[in-house]
Amino acid sequence: LNRRLAEFGTTIFAEMSALAVRTGAINLGQGFPDTDGPEEVREAAVRALRAGHGNQYPPGPGVPELRTAITEHQLRRYALTYDPDTEVLVTAGATEAVAASMLALLEPGDEVIALEPYYDSYAACIAMAGATRVPVTLHPEPSTGSYRLDLDELRAAVTPRTRLLLLNTPHNPTGTVLTREELAAIAALACERDLLVVTDEVYEHLVFEGEHLPLASFPGMRERTVTISSAGKTFSFTGWKVGWITASPELVTAVRSAKQFLTYVSAGPFQYAVAEALRLPDSYFDTLRADLRAKRDLLSGGLAEAGFEVYRPAGTYFVTTDIRPLDSSGDGFAFCRSLPERCGVVAVPNAVFYDHREQGAPFVRFAFCKRTEVLAEAVSRLKGL
Ligand code: PMP
Ligand code: GLN
Repeated sequence: LNRRLAEFGTTIFAEMSALAVRTGAINLGQGFPDTDGPEEVREAAVRALRAGHGNQYPPGPGVPELRTAITEHQLRRYALTYDPDTEVLVTAGATEAVAASMLALLEPGDEVIALEPYYDSYAACIAMAGATRVPVTLHPEPSTGSYRLDLDELRAAVTPRTRLLLLNTPHNPTGTVLTREELAAIAALACERDLLVVTDEVYEHLVFEGEHLPLASFPGMRERTVTISSAGKTFSFTGWKVGWITASPELVTAVRSAKQFLTYVSAGPFQYAVAEALRLPDSYFDTLRADLRAKRDLLSGGLAEAGFEVYRPAGTYFVTTDIRPLDSSGDGFAFCRSLPERCGVVAVPNAVFYDHREQGAPFVRFAFCKRTEVLAEAVSRLKGL
């Protein structure tokens, strides 16, 4: 393994899901739903397969039906206009969108600012591109049970070598949803310092407090922003690996240059099904959100009763907790490794999402994209700690 990747080892999600399988514990570690997405969307995939739609290499940018559905979605939800022919690229999940964006847009030695804790593939993709990550740490505020971005720290992190901001809102793992004021300040900074922004908005539909505002909708941002989303999160089909970007023609062309040599194209029949999914009525998205809000409340409340300090998420399907009231060592790694044996539940230590590991040490993330009875059982086990 080369030096760029050596520090990353195996992703925590694979490690913790393997631990769940080995011990038979309830897996609240890796974020994937335990119920598949809508039946009619699955049927659409079957229909596409049977009709021979996409069984051979689909077009590089994605099938036209899906690209059009993505632009209609951006218009309907956010009043953002994109051209399906030149301003959309379908990717193998958001993961490939992040990788291709980093490989396409960065020069070796460029600096990339990312909000820490950050999703684990960001650091690896920045490293693969030969660039340098510059973390700006979100601060936990026990009094409000939320995380806060310090805009002065963000501004101070920009140097002449900064090329790109890699954002994520709603934010995994903290559940933070950046506010209009924060996004406006980020947009102003990006314009002032002439930065590109790659914004990972895969949890755009999973917002429980406030609203999701795409960064691309702020003044001056449309031309400099790559927006990423994924059918994995919005439609609960994480195994299909259908993601996409929307951006200016120049940025899409650049990212496509990298994508063509990573996967060439993304799986065909699923693209037709996701095109139909994106056209589901608003009631689908409202129900998804309401269902997950109830699950957030169930798990957050249960974790608090079990003695954790809970950071109640405004978005995503993750809740971050501080284990120190239960475990004075404050070692989230050790806590997560022993949790399956102690009470039959798997969680993820947030330290893996930090460069400043000590800042993340006492925090542990639980996923709530699980059936209500599974969450209730997990809570009752955790109360026995
Ligand atoms: N970004 C974030 C913030 C995520 O949480 C995930 C989901 N694991 C991804 C990207 C990857 O998405 P996908 O499964 O579509 O590759
Ligand atoms: N995004 C999911 C999480 O944060 C898992 C994705 C993965 O396993 N790569 O848990």
